Amino acid sequence: MSPTAKILIIEDEKNIRSFIISVLETQGYQVVPAATGQEGLSLAASLCPDLILLDLGLPDMDGNEVIHRLREWSAVPLLVISARTEENDKVQALDLGADDYITKPFGNSELLARIRTALRHGSLRQADAAAVFGPYRCGGLIIDFAKRLVTRDGQEIHLTQNEFKIVELLARNAGRVLTYDRLIEHIWGPYSENDNTILRVNMANIRRKLEPNPAEPIYIFTEIGIGYRMAEEDAR
Ligand code: CA
Repeated sequence: MSPTAKILIIEDEKNIRSFIISVLETQGYQVVPAATGQEGLSLAASLCPDLILLDLGLPDMDGNEVIHRLREWSAVPLLVISARTEENDKVQALDLGADDYITKPFGNSELLARIRTALRHGSLRQADAAAVFGPYRCGGLIIDFAKRLVTRDGQEIHLTQNEFKIVELLARNAGRVLTYDRLIEHIWGPYSENDNTILRVNMANIRRKLEPNPAEPIYIFTEIGIGYRMAEEDAR
């Protein structure tokens, strides 16, 4: 965690902007506000923030256009703020390179948790992520990437190759949502049919093997209409 991190918030609604600024400032973050996409893009370039919070509905341009332009030159962690009605926009935002999203209305603790996750992944991306990653640990579940070994409460869990690839990608991005398309492309390649059925079948099998109770998952959560999110690792 980096309490002095500089956060750029691009949000046109004054009330939400003030709320976020006050929450972040009490945590010691340095916050820079922008009310339009254009202002946000120029501040992103001049200030080099550690994280950007971006509202999708902006007065001067679509939030996804901001992501598109930003990702041409910057890998800064980007957290999208969206309204519940913008489901398709959220998926597009994630596919364009947003790291995660948070849906309005949200509370302090949810906002801060998302920010900490995004900042942590940002600093891992700067270090050599592959070298930093030890096994994933959460509750009784351990995923050893180097050994390709999954255990729960000391018992080995046998996954097929594709099941392991899905779990591995989710675990390496623990705490962040991954879209159906991102997962499908990772497992079956960029030219695969965009059919979620086979992914759902794999996920059902994974849950049957991994989760103590597949009907109430504790490791891999469904983000309805969007994708899957793996539980955060235990603190080390
Ligand atoms: Ca807005």
